[in-house]
Amino acid sequence: MNQKNKIRVRFAPSPTGYLHVGGARTAFYNYLFAKNQGGDFILRIEDTDQARSTEESLKMVVHDLKWLGLNWDEGPDAITLKDVGAFGPYKQSQRLDLYQAVAQELLNQGLAYYCFLTDEEIEAQKKASEAAGTMAHLVSPYENWPLEKSKAELRNGKTAVVRFKTRELKKDYTFTDLVRGQVTFPSDMVGDFVLLRSDGMPVYNFCCAVDDHLMQISHVLRAEEHLSNTLRQLMIFEAMKWSTPQFGHLSVVLDEDKQKMSKRKGATSCFQFMEEGYLPEALLNFIALLGWSHPEEKEIITIDEMIKTFSTSRLNASGAVFDGVKLKWMNAQYLRALPDDQLWALVKPFLLKANLNLPFGNQQWAYQSIRTFKTHMETLSDAVGLYGLLDDSQFQIQSESSEVLSWEPTKPVLMKWKELLQAHDSETFLESDFLRIENDVKTSLNVKGKNLFQPIRVAVIGKPQGTELKILVPLMSRSSLIDRVEKVLAK
Ligand code: GLU
Repeated sequence: MNQKNKIRVRFAPSPTGYLHVGGARTAFYNYLFAKNQGGDFILRIEDTDQARSTEESLKMVVHDLKWLGLNWDEGPDAITLKDVGAFGPYKQSQRLDLYQAVAQELLNQGLAYYCFLTDEEIEAQKKASEAAGTMAHLVSPYENWPLEKSKAELRNGKTAVVRFKTRELKKDYTFTDLVRGQVTFPSDMVGDFVLLRSDGMPVYNFCCAVDDHLMQISHVLRAEEHLSNTLRQLMIFEAMKWSTPQFGHLSVVLDEDKQKMSKRKGATSCFQFMEEGYLPEALLNFIALLGWSHPEEKEIITIDEMIKTFSTSRLNASGAVFDGVKLKWMNAQYLRALPDDQLWALVKPFLLKANLNLPFGNQQWAYQSIRTFKTHMETLSDAVGLYGLLDDSQFQIQSESSEVLSWEPTKPVLMKWKELLQAHDSETFLESDFLRIENDVKTSLNVKGKNLFQPIRVAVIGKPQGTELKILVPLMSRSSLIDRVEKVLAK
């Protein structure tokens, strides 16, 4: 725990693309924990892998976190990317002097050393130990060189990595993981590991430990894949006589085949879910339940309630399955709960992007349409298919209508339908108007069942099956309906 006993947690993405839903879950649990405890939520950018980290990716991650509403107390500002907070810089690439200083201290104390082994020499050792079947760790002849001697070598132009000395640490490292309980690693699980590469760049385990200390991080909630890294980090904490944060390693998120989630099988990043028309609140609710549960096992939970009830004791150690059907269901619940004006504001950009021609300026129509379609949508992008039915320029007589068009009663039904539309005394229809007109066709021609319904469907939506006409027709104009039936009659 840090000096002031303040709860401080961090989300520490390596910016290499859009935010993965697994990363979003890690961020969210840290956020919930911080808010629940009145602590700080820090965004730290782990960008020391310069080949893979880009400013573009950083912007993507920041964008996705903002979209989710996971605002951080310290870290790069969401707009300017300039650091905000007293523990910066928050980008590791700008903290190199800090890592150098800690490495110097470890070197001075003889807890780390310069290692001049070449890649070929390392490879040869590996091969020899493989051949002997021992899988022994690397043994560096430089392990006990006096520091002055190594420095003289460096001055002579030799290059070296800085390695952490592990061979004298013959003991078990035990800690209580917030998710997994007691975890023990024998120190000889790892060999002398690199802290700084020969170009001076620090490796993940080193910067992570240094930053968690310097940023006074009290709790580290992160992905399970980092569990074994904790050993190296604990060694660094111990060597520097720093107190350790509490660790919690979150279960993996698997797809429905119990495999690692893969882009090939569907959306994996928050950005994709946004583009597919998921609401951030729904996505958060869903990912919260991938490894955590509400004390009363509630499924639909507001952010405020999650903050109130979040506790690491309810984090589950076993892998969580990402059930896309459940996410859709949940999204539908959130869509339905939105007021009409808000839902319309969210749906409209999807319709504009799909280039639909609709009476966007007619607010009464807009809200009426949203009320009608609300319960027919699971995602915002579902609106495109529904509203597409109302766009005259999209109207087409589908091939599956040909059978209906060949029936004998079809033509009289269509002619009557057209006649009654023309006789209707308004440009718009109520549901009851539609039902009355349909009934008038029925009684005047004495046709019923599919001989009645299917031709009218073809005349309205171009196909014999689909969304109920009594909900569509009140959203359409008389001229549009007449136009459509004329097109069908002409066929
Ligand atoms: N940069 C690491 C990652 O993105 C963070 C690991 C950690 O939280 O310690 O996986």
